[in-house]
Amino acid sequence: MSAVSDIPQTKGWRLSPGATQALRCPACRCGLEFQDDEISCTGPSCGKVYPVVDGIPVLIDDVGSVFSLNDFTARRGTFYQSSETGARQSISRLLPSLGDNLKAKGNFLRFAGLLRRSTASPKVLVVGGSRVGPGLESILSDPQIDFVESDVALGQRTALICDAHGLPFDDETFDAVVAQVVLEHVVDPYACVEEMRRILKPGGLVYAETPFMEQVHAGRYDFTRFTRLGHRRLFRGFEEISSGIVGGPGMALAWSYRYFLLSFAESRRLRTLLSAFARLTAFWLKYFDPYLTSKAGALDAAAEFYFMGRKSDRLLADRELIRSYKGLMDQ
Ligand SMILES: [Zn+2]
Repeated sequence: MSAVSDIPQTKGWRLSPGATQALRCPACRCGLEFQDDEISCTGPSCGKVYPVVDGIPVLIDDVGSVFSLNDFTARRGTFYQSSETGARQSISRLLPSLGDNLKAKGNFLRFAGLLRRSTASPKVLVVGGSRVGPGLESILSDPQIDFVESDVALGQRTALICDAHGLPFDDETFDAVVAQVVLEHVVDPYACVEEMRRILKPGGLVYAETPFMEQVHAGRYDFTRFTRLGHRRLFRGFEEISSGIVGGPGMALAWSYRYFLLSFAESRRLRTLLSAFARLTAFWLKYFDPYLTSKAGALDAAAEFYFMGRKSDRLLADRELIRSYKGLMDQ
């Protein structure tokens, strides 16, 4: 393990000393040596060198990843570039939203309470943390918790660039992992959840939010959707603490209506206008969601689900999984 004096003094370095010491080579999981602009693996037969971009370590083994180290060294900007800039962004802020996250804030307060009870200074890995996810702001400033905000985008909050298919940490390093609307954007969500489980200490917590009824929203980096049971199976190596709907059927219908309208248009200008029209004419659908989320039928129709769980030694059996269905389709 690196000594504290090895921690780089690079401008913009956002990782805590503890998190920096926990970093490992994503290819061989050996220790690392830090220089100003690069990080070298100390593994005897590895010899990989990783860049540091604007103070952010880029620890991706680009042999097996869809991302290459050049993506970050060459662009030095946001990888998932926002399609809304300047005036478009200002107009967008004035329009009503098509949905609200109904549960995240309460879920995170519960999550932080569980964490504080289990350890005095919990370490939490945020996967997809270039921007603050809904509700996460309620616990991010907790001085007791050391958050490592990682992503594959160089965003405002990114402290570490890594690929969720190969997390650059030893087994059993973290007390918790958070992944909000991330697992639909990875090519192999099952492998990513296995990685999350690997780097969690025994009994460590996971919190994930993943869409079910949502259209493509990150262009070519958008691969998978999960039903409630599909989402539960994804986390079968975890004991459930709670799970349910974070975005209801009203939100799903509003998004569907918006994408129906967008299908007619090919020019960016017309798509922007139609999108604004959709928001002005369908924002009210979300007001049904607080009522609908208590209905069993909403479990078959929701926009997005969450899962909060604790790392377990046993896998949930598929027979147990299907017994946990609570929707309306078999009644
Ligand atoms: Zn290595």
